[in-house]
Amino acid sequence: MAQDKKYWNEEMETLPPERFAGIQEERLMAQLDYVWQHSLLYQEKYGEAGIERGDIKTLSDLNKIPFTEKYEIRESLASLPPLGKHACVDMADVIRIYSTSGTTGNPTYIALTSHDRDVWAEGAMRAMWTCGMRPKHIVPLPIGTFFIAASYGEAIERLGATLVPVGIGATDRFLGAVRNLGADYVLSTASFPLYLINYCEKKGIDASALGIRGFMLGGEPGGGIPHIRRKIENAFGATVQECMGNGDMLGLMWGECEHKKGMHFIGQGIVHPEVIDPETGEVLEIREGLTGELVYTSLDRKSQPLMRFRTRDHILVTQTRCDCGRTGFCVKCIGRTDDMLIVSGVNVYPSAIRDVVGTLLPRVTGEILIQLREPPPSATPPLRIKVEHGDDPGDLALLKKDIENRVREKLIFSSSVELVPPGTLPKFEYKAKLVEFAHEK
Ligand SMILES: [Zn+2]
Repeated sequence: MAQDKKYWNEEMETLPPERFAGIQEERLMAQLDYVWQHSLLYQEKYGEAGIERGDIKTLSDLNKIPFTEKYEIRESLASLPPLGKHACVDMADVIRIYSTSGTTGNPTYIALTSHDRDVWAEGAMRAMWTCGMRPKHIVPLPIGTFFIAASYGEAIERLGATLVPVGIGATDRFLGAVRNLGADYVLSTASFPLYLINYCEKKGIDASALGIRGFMLGGEPGGGIPHIRRKIENAFGATVQECMGNGDMLGLMWGECEHKKGMHFIGQGIVHPEVIDPETGEVLEIREGLTGELVYTSLDRKSQPLMRFRTRDHILVTQTRCDCGRTGFCVKCIGRTDDMLIVSGVNVYPSAIRDVVGTLLPRVTGEILIQLREPPPSATPPLRIKVEHGDDPGDLALLKKDIENRVREKLIFSSSVELVPPGTLPKFEYKAKLVEFAHEK
């Protein structure tokens, strides 16, 4: 396989806007026919809303149909187990089922037919190629990390790279793959390389000598936060690029190219993305600087197609044109509604606080822990934040003041910072936990 081709799927990734709209519309019409025929959930939902198939004739009619919320998927699964009322196929047609543990109880089951599996692999390969993965790379994958990691593993193999499955919590085995096999490209959460840096420091291992040259990070906003990216790139002498997907929709559909100005949408023909105002549900025109919530519609799904599925992922559109030639707009994930705090009526993402504190490196390490005195999302200022100071922080009282000022300037709320020595806040191998809720002692 050519190592040097520029795109995994040149035709789809570089579609001019009008052809993109044409392909999305054509696939949407076919998917809607299919859903109207096979999905009990949508037959009921659209019946109740008084919407007929004929009401949706073009892509711009899409906003006539209501959103699908995550709780509806949960209810659908509970009322018709195991695959839910939204399933359009029999179990006999299903070749793989993922389960998400979910934070609110019952697992969600996500089923794929063999067609769906191929489509998922296609999305993942486009994202991986965009992020710089090539057939020459050897990729140790902590399989336990993502529940859909099996689909990533499959895409790594199909792309032509070499997959080395390793377990989560098996850092020695991971380093063994790096040292003995020459593994040089890593797909993981952002927390994992940070954890690895810490691990190497403790064991006296020079991370930059390990030979890891690329990281493709997803699952949490960390990989897009500048100081975290710099820390990982400097420690390993590697390049960091980000990716994003959605477990209910498509494993990977965003990947950041070598220009590193946000993640390109690369799910053309597979998923249709919309950005909405999370408060009003209004569809927003995609332009640079726009923030909003991502909504996805399946365009090529057999098992459990979802229409206008609200992701709760909040993004910033970073650019709509890129020198790499890909035409999918670029985003950065700001955070999830589930993680959002409301401080005196203002929406604040913990990752944004982490970002602001990180601007004071190296006086701080960049690690923070927000301590709430009331259950989230509401928080009363001053917000209590534990911050690790750096090895040579200078005057601690001044540093505390500087952090509090910077937070007030950038995020417009007051905070009360408690400085703690470097290395004392908990480290996370999988995903960072930035918020803690504890009753006042
Ligand atoms: Zn690009």
